[in-house]
Order: sequence, then C-alpha cells, then structure tokens
Amino acid sequence: MILILKPNTDTETAEYKQLISYLSALQNIELRVHQERGAERTLTEIHLIGNTAALSVEDMKNLPGVESAVRVSEEYRVLGRHKADNRPNYFDYQGLRFGQDSLHVFAGLCAVDSPESVEKMMKALRDNGQVCTRMGAYKPRTSPYSFQGHGKNCLPYVFELAGKYGIKVIAMEVTHESHVDEINQALDSSGQPTGVMLQIGTRNTQNFELLKSVGRQQEFPVLLKRGFGITLDESLHAAEYLASEGNQRVIFGLRGMKTNIGDPHRNFVDFAHVPVVKRLTRMPVCIDPSHSVGLRSTGAEGILDVMHVTAQGVIAGANMILVDFHPQPSKALVDGPQALLISELPYFLEDVQIAREAYEKRKTLAARSSAH
Ligand code: PEP
Ligand code: MN
Repeated sequence: MILILKPNTDTETAEYKQLISYLSALQNIELRVHQERGAERTLTEIHLIGNTAALSVEDMKNLPGVESAVRVSEEYRVLGRHKADNRPNYFDYQGLRFGQDSLHVFAGLCAVDSPESVEKMMKALRDNGQVCTRMGAYKPRTSPYSFQGHGKNCLPYVFELAGKYGIKVIAMEVTHESHVDEINQALDSSGQPTGVMLQIGTRNTQNFELLKSVGRQQEFPVLLKRGFGITLDESLHAAEYLASEGNQRVIFGLRGMKTNIGDPHRNFVDFAHVPVVKRLTRMPVCIDPSHSVGLRSTGAEGILDVMHVTAQGVIAGANMILVDFHPQPSKALVDGPQALLISELPYFLEDVQIAREAYEKRKTLAARSSAH
C-alpha cells in the first residue's frame, strides 16, 4: 500500500513523527519513505511493504497528514498504474516536462569523439530549435579492444558546448556508479551549464547494484533501456529497482530485441510495446530507432528504415526519441553505419512532426469513437 502525504509535508513536525511511529508499530510491515523534490512542491509517499491485506484503505486515508492511500496488489508498485491511482505520469527536469503526453527528440552522437563533432552537432540542434541531445562518454563495447569512450576527459567540453548552444538535457550512459560522481563533478566545475539524463544501457538492464545506486541518487532522471534478451516484465521490474530506491523520474527505452528473426535489422523492432508500457506503468516511453535498425538502408519509396521505425513509434505515442547522428558517419568511432547525417536533421524532425500529428488525430478519433 502507498500512502501519499499532503504536499510539502515537513518531516520534522510532531504530526509526521507520530505517523511514522504509528506505522512502524504495524506487525510484519516494512516502511519505505520516498520524497520527490519538485520545483514547486515536495511529494512524500510512504510505501508499506509486507502483509498489508489486513489494513483498510479508509483507515489509512484518515491518518493525520495523509492525503490518499492506494492499494497496490499489482506488480510495479511504484511505477505501475493502479486502481484509483492518480499519481502523475510525468516529471519536470531543467524546465522541460517529460511525460506520457510529451515528445522530446534526443538527437546526438552515439559516442563523443572530438570537440569538433560535438560542436557541429550542438550547433545543428540549436539551429533547429532542439534543446536535448545524446552524447556517449562511457561506451559499453562488445570487444575490450574497441574504443571505450573518452569517459570523464570529454565531459568538460561536452558540458561547456551544451551551455554555449542552449542544450538543457544530455542523455548519457553510465556503466558504473563512479560515472555519476564524475558527471556531477564535471557539471559543478563547469558551473552547471546543462542537465544530464543518466542512461542505463541494454547490457546493464539487470545490473541490480548499478540500478540501486542510480536509483538512490535524486539529482538526475534516468533513461532505462529494455534488456535485449529478457521479457518486458523483467525489464519493467528493473525500472522498479530504480524507483524502489527513491528515483521515480524514469523513462523506459525500447531499442529492439536481439534475435536473427529481425534480420537484416540489427535488432527486432519492438515499438509495438509503446502503448503497452504506457498502459502498465506511469513511465514516459522512449524509442531508439538507431540501435533497433542499426543500418542506413532505404525503403523502395526512398525513406530510410530508421525514419520508418521512428514514425511507427511516434504514431503509437512514444514520448522520447533517442537517435544517432554524426557529422561524418564513416569516421565515427562507434555505430557509424546507423548514424544519420547532420544535414538530415531538419528532414528527420519534420518527419517526426508528421507522425506526431497523426498520433494526435488518432487520439481524437479514438475519443470520438468511444463517446458513442
Ligand atoms: C547507446 O544508446 O549508445 C547504446 C549502447 O544503446 P543500447 O544499450 O540500447 O545498446
Ligand atoms: Mn551505440
């Protein structure tokens, strides 16, 4: 069961302490307190874990300081959607709203290779009205002999250039908890010119210790990629690890599944799960067409497969697009074959807009049809 306390609850008050001591005395029930510090208000939730069947929702709702109580018998306690659950399906970060109704494009470099590439990318983003990007500094590679990313050495120029070009959020993968400290320090030393969304890659979806440590920090929101060889349910539980440790600002990323059934694409595109994740949970859903398709093939009508699958995800309601671009894909140190050209950015954005408008129209049509 989840108790949602009145907004801006002060945990130093006698009322709050009394509530905690009452709840702590309940038999076979463990308490976990979650606090979400938003710009305008702090939301406090108390999660009661264990034998809650005997508790009455009505009694819990009437406890001092409690605004509402939700019984969560279902899976995905924190991030899931439950009956009579009106918790938000969005969060705000860096002045942007990330939710199940919004759409943000994170076009950028799979791997940072040089300050020149970063600057070309960010300038193009600014010129096209974009404020988010992706920039890989820590790359999980199949071979230990492949380029592993510039790591913390590139952070100063990446953050400085982000500030210069008005980039507000950079999606950046971390493969170890120490990377979060390095990012924090680099942001501090450069005067916080931008924000970071920590990315957990498909190879680490079930790295539970990494999930726990990234879940414990509240500084950065998290993009969790679906595991490429596990069920959707297992990946949603992985997201729940982040939330159960305290970080509910999680976006769930679809990036295709590893199987030869998807050939010639690098992974089997799984964007049919966009509405499924939005129905089961309160998380916004990201699609990664680049790692799904993995190549620059073009359909018979002249549309790139990467753009086709992007449109498929967006028309199904995706809330974020993570997509690889590079000024010179043949020179990229990682994933060049799937990168779009920077000159293709305006075209890409316009194509996304077409799919988004179609999604909006489909929503209106569905509402009209169900009204009869
Ligand atoms: C990436 O986004 O650069 C990446 C490595 O993705 P994935 O974890 O989906 O393979
Ligand atoms: Mn990549």
